[in-house]
Amino acid sequence: MSSEFWGPDFDALKSQDPEIATIILDELERQRDGLQLIASENFTSPAVLAALGSTLSNKYAEGYPGKRYYGGCADVDRAEILGIERAKALFGAEHANLQPHSGASANIAVYAAFTKPGDTVLAMSLPHGGHLTHGSKVNFSGKWFDIVSYGVRQDTELIDYDELRDLAMKHRPKMICSGATAYPRLVDFEKVREICDESGAIMWVDAAHFIGLVAGKAIPSPVPYADVVSFTTHKVLRGPRGGMILSKSAHAAAIDKAIFPGLQGGPLMHAVAAKAVALKEASTPAYQSYAKSVIANAQALSSGLAEHGMRSVSGGTDTHLALIDLQALGVNGADAEKRCDAAGITLNKNSIPFDPEAPSVTSGIRVGTPAVTTQGMGIPEMAKIAEFISLAVRGKGDPAEIRAQVTELTHAFPAYPR
Ligand SMILES: *Cc1c(COP(=O)(O)O)cnc(C)c1O
Repeated sequence: MSSEFWGPDFDALKSQDPEIATIILDELERQRDGLQLIASENFTSPAVLAALGSTLSNKYAEGYPGKRYYGGCADVDRAEILGIERAKALFGAEHANLQPHSGASANIAVYAAFTKPGDTVLAMSLPHGGHLTHGSKVNFSGKWFDIVSYGVRQDTELIDYDELRDLAMKHRPKMICSGATAYPRLVDFEKVREICDESGAIMWVDAAHFIGLVAGKAIPSPVPYADVVSFTTHKVLRGPRGGMILSKSAHAAAIDKAIFPGLQGGPLMHAVAAKAVALKEASTPAYQSYAKSVIANAQALSSGLAEHGMRSVSGGTDTHLALIDLQALGVNGADAEKRCDAAGITLNKNSIPFDPEAPSVTSGIRVGTPAVTTQGMGIPEMAKIAEFISLAVRGKGDPAEIRAQVTELTHAFPAYPR
């Protein structure tokens, strides 16, 4: 190892391309000054950013370690092997593929590995929290597959496992997908495994949102139960933007072939190395205590919002996110998102189960605590945030005044040092 790192040189960017440099600085300020409550976002570490900004980006490495289509891959092979070993150890997985460019790419690979166009797949309905890649009409999954959807019960707002079993036995899907993008509760993986065994389906868990909580040992893992687990590396897990797939060894070849040469070309080796860095970070006691705080903060934020008349769907959360029903306030999700934005609070409108409003309007918002917890905020700050959201959503108070209080709070917990 030479001691000289040739990497991100922001001064060079500033002098060579001041327009882009300015945009990057403006975005850094936005991330630092505002409250980042989007449940799928986080602040990745300087170490991860250094790997991402490295010359590994230059290297073509189609294939897998030891089996590349290009020469000169000895160094990047070491990065990928290390990443794979770390992933297998952290999650107790038999096989890991670190090459998916994103969560959506990882999911396409899962379909490619286990199904043919026209096959039946059972997945969580989008209006009840599922992801676009779980069968939306505008997504490849909805166009190429016969998607059957399950949802939550109207009374409990929890996954209806009886409906899931009935649909599985009736339609005999090739694959059952569990995991969602806006479901605040734990999934009963043991029960899903039983249903998969009974109906003869592949058990696919899309763990994009909560895999970081699994890594931090704060919630139960789907890995012992599932045939395949796909996820993103940039949400609670706090790594670079990208995807990953874990599977049983019996499916290793199918998964690897689906990613390459099935649907991707050269892997992003800088991102693969950055994923390895994030996996090392996620294996520490510090990350485990982070994961627990993310959940404690989400629960505090959920009850804080309830005190201000904003109910959490299902009555609370077991994870890093809460889905908030705004109907009692008479404000829709789209307006709430805009009002919060004006006050320096970034969150998203979100459909709630059985939402009477259109997806472009919605009756709810989704809030998440991965980013604010990385900043070091805790329970007292969640009470403040609930109050800021309440003021902003109701349209009471001057947005500029709320924004000033938000900035005071975020400056006390800087996302990145100045
Ligand atoms: C975020 C997410 C994805 C997609 O990840 P991208 O990296 O945005 O493609 C897929 N599935 C679920 C459940 C997600 O939450």
